[in-house]
Amino acid sequence: MTIQGYKNYRCPHCQSERCENDANAGWDVVTQQSVLLSEFDAQWCNDCGEVTLEEYEITDEQEIARIDRARAVLAIEAAAPLLLAAADVA
Ligand SMILES: [Zn+2]
Repeated sequence: MTIQGYKNYRCPHCQSERCENDANAGWDVVTQQSVLLSEFDAQWCNDCGEVTLEEYEITDEQEIARIDRARAVLAIEAAAPLLLAAADVA
């Protein structure tokens, strides 16, 4: 899976990215962790309160590079078990 895009959300009043929305989570017995089941419309800024979040495109080159590095780590972590299993077979 290749992750694409550099979309983020922020508060339209203070530009903070410390924003959240209501969601419904459940328990996955296989991975032993909570999983996101659905998201609701209620959104808020931790500084301003209830708001409708603003979607924006990240354009800062350093932030994009940081995101790309984090995505590369995720790709390696996802591929590692398959590579290790292939090495066991070889
Ligand atoms: Zn705010």
